[in-house]
Amino acid sequence: MRHREVPESASAPAAVAARGDGCAVEGCDKAPQRSQPRSRVAEALPELALEGGRRVKLCRDHYRAYQRASRETRRLDRMGG
Ligand SMILES: [Zn+2]
Repeated sequence: MRHREVPESASAPAAVAARGDGCAVEGCDKAPQRSQPRSRVAEALPELALEGGRRVKLCRDHYRAYQRASRETRRLDRMGG
């Protein structure tokens, strides 16, 4: 194996994660539709990586996923785990 030259990235986009608009789910770049309390979203969708802040903005897809998940969580709560 030959050593390959790694191209120098002159301007690394370091501040990409810090931008405030867009869906708060990491890796999702869709336009946010709804803002929800972060704790609730984290509870309903613990597998998602969320940006910081008390409230998180969710795109339509993630908001629907959140609604579905939270409904299921509530049902499980009622069943008494
Ligand atoms: Zn999203």
